[in-house]
Amino acid sequence: MIRRISGRKDCGNCYRPFKPFETVHYLGIDNNSFCAACREKIAPGAKDDPKDYGGWVPSLFVGSGEDGRENIMRLIKLWNDKLDDYEQELQIEVNRRCVR
Ligand SMILES: [Zn+2]
Repeated sequence: MIRRISGRKDCGNCYRPFKPFETVHYLGIDNNSFCAACREKIAPGAKDDPKDYGGWVPSLFVGSGEDGRENIMRLIKLWNDKLDDYEQELQIEVNRRCVR
């Protein structure tokens, strides 16, 4: 389930760039997102911030470049693919010219 778009394109601790759709962690610290390894170092065993729906953050940094546009398209495709037949009205229609 897509819950939150990462506010940054790299880990708030080790600065490793997130891969598109990598699951990263929001701990409620400085509004930063962290990779799984750093999340364990920073708060070993602690629960992710409950206010952030459990804290699982799929990383999707959308910049202004071609990569960002491609990421949006992939995200919409994932969303559409996940829907059951009876949820067709929730599908997002995509016209490439609208994604700028
Ligand atoms: Zn990290």
